[in-house]
Amino acid sequence: MDTHPVSGPNGPSRRTFLSAAAVTAAAAPILTQAAPAHAAPAGLGSAQNTGKFDPASRALIKQIDPKRIQATILRLTQFGTRHTLSSQTDSVRGIGAATAWVTQQMQAIAATSNGNMTVQQQTFVQPVSSRIPVPTAITNVIATLHGTAFPERFYVVTGHLDSRVTDVLDFTSDAPGADDDGSGVACVLELARLFATHQFPGTIVFATVAGEEQGIFGSTFMAQQMASAGNDVQGMFSNDIIGASHSFDGNKPNPFTVRMFLEGVPTNVTSNQIALLQSVGGENDGLSRQLGRFVKSVAPFNLTGMNIRLIWRRDRYLRASDHVSFQGRGYPAARFSEPRENFNHEHQNTQVVNGVQLGDLIDFVDFDYIARVTGVNAAALWGLASSPSTPKNVQIHTAPPGTFSGTNLTTMDWKANPETNLTGYEVVMRETTDSDWTEALPVGNVTSVTLDISKDNVQFGIRAVDHNRNRSPVAFPQAVA
Ligand SMILES: [Zn+2]
Repeated sequence: MDTHPVSGPNGPSRRTFLSAAAVTAAAAPILTQAAPAHAAPAGLGSAQNTGKFDPASRALIKQIDPKRIQATILRLTQFGTRHTLSSQTDSVRGIGAATAWVTQQMQAIAATSNGNMTVQQQTFVQPVSSRIPVPTAITNVIATLHGTAFPERFYVVTGHLDSRVTDVLDFTSDAPGADDDGSGVACVLELARLFATHQFPGTIVFATVAGEEQGIFGSTFMAQQMASAGNDVQGMFSNDIIGASHSFDGNKPNPFTVRMFLEGVPTNVTSNQIALLQSVGGENDGLSRQLGRFVKSVAPFNLTGMNIRLIWRRDRYLRASDHVSFQGRGYPAARFSEPRENFNHEHQNTQVVNGVQLGDLIDFVDFDYIARVTGVNAAALWGLASSPSTPKNVQIHTAPPGTFSGTNLTTMDWKANPETNLTGYEVVMRETTDSDWTEALPVGNVTSVTLDISKDNVQFGIRAVDHNRNRSPVAFPQAVA
């Protein structure tokens, strides 16, 4: 049994290391003898995606239209301001008129869905807080593409409709919000338009949320409502400031990169759960990090024309967006944002100071770039909605056998997935220092496995695989006695 470290130029290769630990695919719990080195069991392979993508997904991404995105952002800027405290009754200017317009757009899209998409205005009254001087109605606009087989399984994509200037309480000055977050709203509308004529086993939600600049209030309410309803949100994306490929600050444009922010230790866990994650080195294996790894595998450059720069951080310094609301409810969530911001163009009054144009103007927005970021979202949503759900109740057992103080065997079990088209499950592995899964072991259509690979040395996860070779996001096991 090879137990050598795998790193270093002269050390054993990873493949040697892993092939020394045998696994068989069978319907029974698995415990086998070590196989000879270099005799990899059949099916042992890379953890990475095969690179074959649904032609329908590719076709949908090709239909993303920068001109529609441009028209949406232009229209949004014409409401003058979309500040949360601006008029809700003026038909021309303010958040009320903007909300009505977005609702009309969503309804027109839903009309093409053969009844599969419904549109809702979700309104609530936000009580007084530091950025809300009087109780204020806040309205999210939500288009839901209902799932055919597992409608309780949800994927959510948002942009925020509200805008602001330098003074966060100034609701009268022009706040065009072209990039923050007209870009995200345009992305969501374009995704809704193109997905409306497709169907998936799970439910996809396209939402423009509001009250973001005053304290992510709209998305907080939406996430609370979904949690109260027992909705199983398995992935959420906030598109916030996805409009500029060029920072106009002397740095080169970076039109083929989008940042994806992913928190580590989950927001909503107890101190005991944090202690457990620390004890097993699970800091990089929270739900959102697994979502990021999955998106990277289903939305590669050869499909979207974009590189995803994963950033292991909840959000940028000093900032937050609507993904934080969903993380707070225990849901995997991420934020997409442009590669390098120009803060002259965010949260600023529109004015020229010392010859420098300030303000969130449409002039600084790149519609082709937004189209490509929309493509990343499309590939991610299509991949999630077309693949098996993330396995649940995945556990790794730590109780030592008999009179021994530990064991080098690794036993995991999980709850069977509900899908009927599964071929089985894969154990995925990586060195503890690797950023992404590197190896996959098919283990058959079983709900437990015992491997002769020490859990002390690597990270393990479980994912489900269907007949089309779609793989679910990875579930990181919880350690139990
Ligand atoms: Zn924003």
